Amino acid sequence: MRIFIKRIGDEGETFRGEEPAAIMELQEEDVQFLDPVRYDLLAQVQQNALLVTGRLSAPVHLRCSRCLKIFVQELVVERFVYHLELSGQDSVDLTPQIREDIILELPQRALCDGSCKGLCPHCGTDLNVATCSCRPETGSPQWQVLDSLKLK
Ligand SMILES: [Zn+2]
Ligand SMILES: [Zn+2]
Repeated sequence: MRIFIKRIGDEGETFRGEEPAAIMELQEEDVQFLDPVRYDLLAQVQQNALLVTGRLSAPVHLRCSRCLKIFVQELVVERFVYHLELSGQDSVDLTPQIREDIILELPQRALCDGSCKGLCPHCGTDLNVATCSCRPETGSPQWQVLDSLKLK
């Protein structure tokens, strides 16, 4: 999103709206921006410097690292701050900064829910919606070997 310096009055100028998801330039299998990025920003020019502050939010589709389901998480930048010394330019493109700040909000490890039980490592059952009859003792080959040793 490009803002024009000369249009910013003494009181500053408010920018509210949406940018297309395409500005995120990030479409991986497990991380997809499909919905618009929302912004609510105040731009001010003070002593030949541009200051933009406000809030950004963008829903992102992520794959849960435990149960592998795709879920939507809202990434929110509560305090976006952009400061630039002006040197005669008419406009400034905030897009790279917006993109970077939103990407910093991506979780290191995506979880659909903090208590997600994940998939059974043996049969693949989603343990959030069903239970399976696997037991660690019978499902792991190592345990089977130990069990047979004990029998002897
Ligand atoms: Zn999950
Ligand atoms: Zn199982």
